[in-house]
Amino acid sequence: MSVPARVCILGATGSIGVQTLDIVRRHPSRFVADTLVAHRNVESMADLCRDFRPRLAVMADAVAADRLASQLRGQGLDTRVEGGPDAVAAAAAESTIDTVVAGIVGAAGLAANLAAARSGKRILLANKEALVMTGPLFMSAVRQHGATLLPIDSEHNAVFQVLPEGRLVRGVRKVWLTCSGGPFRDLPDLDLASVTPDQACKHPNWSMGRKISVDSATLMNKGLEVIEAHWLFGAPAEDIEVVIHPQSIVHSMVEYDDGSILAQLGNPDMRTPIAHALAWPERIEAGVPPLDLVAMPPLTFRTPDRDRFPCLGLAYEALRLGGTAPAVLNAANEVAVAAFLDGGLRFTAIPRIIESTLARVPLVRQPDLDAVLQADCTARELAGALTRDRNFAR
Ligand code: NDP
Ligand code: MG
Repeated sequence: MSVPARVCILGATGSIGVQTLDIVRRHPSRFVADTLVAHRNVESMADLCRDFRPRLAVMADAVAADRLASQLRGQGLDTRVEGGPDAVAAAAAESTIDTVVAGIVGAAGLAANLAAARSGKRILLANKEALVMTGPLFMSAVRQHGATLLPIDSEHNAVFQVLPEGRLVRGVRKVWLTCSGGPFRDLPDLDLASVTPDQACKHPNWSMGRKISVDSATLMNKGLEVIEAHWLFGAPAEDIEVVIHPQSIVHSMVEYDDGSILAQLGNPDMRTPIAHALAWPERIEAGVPPLDLVAMPPLTFRTPDRDRFPCLGLAYEALRLGGTAPAVLNAANEVAVAAFLDGGLRFTAIPRIIESTLARVPLVRQPDLDAVLQADCTARELAGALTRDRNFAR
């Protein structure tokens, strides 16, 4: 019997983190939840520590780490508690860790993801924003340090599964990313300017964190995924297509020159891609009910409405511009979505803020990490100012 893989879960208290822990719990002889990382949700982290008894628990917020330590005191746990962003990155690079689940939301996950790549870990990537920001730098760190990168974003996991050895080969004509279309896909008469955060977060097929739920409603999630697919598989932007598939059963497809289209199907449950990547190249049980081919609804596909949901086109445009543009797109989106979730911005202002920020931040064509971080910072300041500008926010 081999030794269980020691897993570090970045974003342990989130949707991806909790679903990863569900798989870990099902396979105690294969995986150990060695390190759990979160931001400031002390109550959830304390529950996870009592449940999984990790070696290390890290809160990115140092005050939250102190609160966690005092909550865990006297409970008979050996869990060490650390705090602060440096402790998060160090946890991902720790020599005893085999597998890092990159499940932090947004640019906040970048430093830890890079640390995991530079330490040659097996990385299960959910945190698409960090890859969008630093595509070439992150991919070269993965190659240089012999890390193994396995996508768990369901579309990219599907593409990985239907490409020979998970890599683009000659004869691939197109990568087709499927898209549920979000909660507003079948409401053409709905005035998008008046939708609330709760309406936007009510995803028809998936239960996810609030930021990615809004991204799914604006189609920016699919835009970020186009950029993610470009970096993961090296596919040119013009060969990556998005198709609306409301049933979320076909998770994505690869079209080959000989006329074949290979697809990966399954019930919409993130535990399938997470289990696939945790066990790869083997397969394990994920707690996901088998897809009932006879009872499932008819599978339908249609073209996305880019006029109603301009974020998709903005993401293609940022990918075409290259350099720091995807980082600027991502930063402006994070700021705009946070303002929308806070009730301070209309849904329809999100793409306008992103477009305007993209136009204003100077493009650096071949940025190093400092230039990316600088562009991220400038974009956040500009987008923040735009969210407070009545002409944009309304
Ligand atoms: P959630 O909002 O549910 O969880 C986010 C997690 O990140 C929480 O554990 C949170 O901790 C942690 N976190 C936030 N900021 C920091 C920080 N500064 N330092 C350390 N930890 C931090 O998000 P999701 O799980 O939905 O999404 C996570 C990522 O996975 C995103 O990039 C998303 O795009 C991607 N993804 C998610 C899918 C899903 O089904 N949910 C599907 C495909 C991709 P705390 O609880 O303490 O705030
Ligand atoms: Mg996805």
